[in-house]
Amino acid sequence: MVDRIEFQKEDIGAEILPILTTGLYRNALDTLREYIQNSIDAKATKIELVVDPDVVSIRDDGAGMIEASARRAIRLGISEKSPLDNVGFRGIGIYSALNLCDQLVMHTRARRQKTGYMLQFEFKRMRDELLQIKGIGPETADSILLYGLEKLVFVVDRYTCRILWRHYLLDEDIDYDYVQQLFTDALPADLRIYNEYHALLVALGKNYCRPRPRCSACPLAEFTHRLEDH
Ligand code: SF4
Repeated sequence: MVDRIEFQKEDIGAEILPILTTGLYRNALDTLREYIQNSIDAKATKIELVVDPDVVSIRDDGAGMIEASARRAIRLGISEKSPLDNVGFRGIGIYSALNLCDQLVMHTRARRQKTGYMLQFEFKRMRDELLQIKGIGPETADSILLYGLEKLVFVVDRYTCRILWRHYLLDEDIDYDYVQQLFTDALPADLRIYNEYHALLVALGKNYCRPRPRCSACPLAEFTHRLEDH
């Protein structure tokens, strides 16, 4: 017998952002290691890892979960007592692969229990829904991906758009995806360069290309631009 436990929006807590932005998983292998560590923690004596082009599966003979443990496992960044007590060192548990795959399915059954449980996480849908939450726009989401999870995503912000517009590289109606694609096409696919470029644009926007620009002191002054000092 298998009871299905579905993810609900209430299972996501406000602590998701600080947890994600700590950037605990530097690459896909770190994520795999996290799931394998769960098997080891469950006292598994045998762990089988199969990597196919579209599916990665891990099977073990560990202790398995009773219903209460399975329900706790799907809670993300929710603190009932102290956040440190409840969220734990990594705090992200089952969600380690949130940005790595579109779906995660877990089957578990505790020893000597007749009922097993299936936990199903539609990570792609969750990512899309997170983008709908007020305060998590594409810039915030991409910042989490670039700085927190070290994914190769160029972050576009208002400084970048303002500088490009003033240099005739954009129209008034700025589309986030379009600007992002401009940088993605023009820059080498290198995380350090994405980081550095974004940091330099922010510095330029804060120090020179302000709402009232300081063009005469700006390092880009020699390039054609719309405005002069105000
Ligand atoms: S030259 Fe002027 S318009 Fe261009 S980036 Fe500098 S401050 Fe902005």
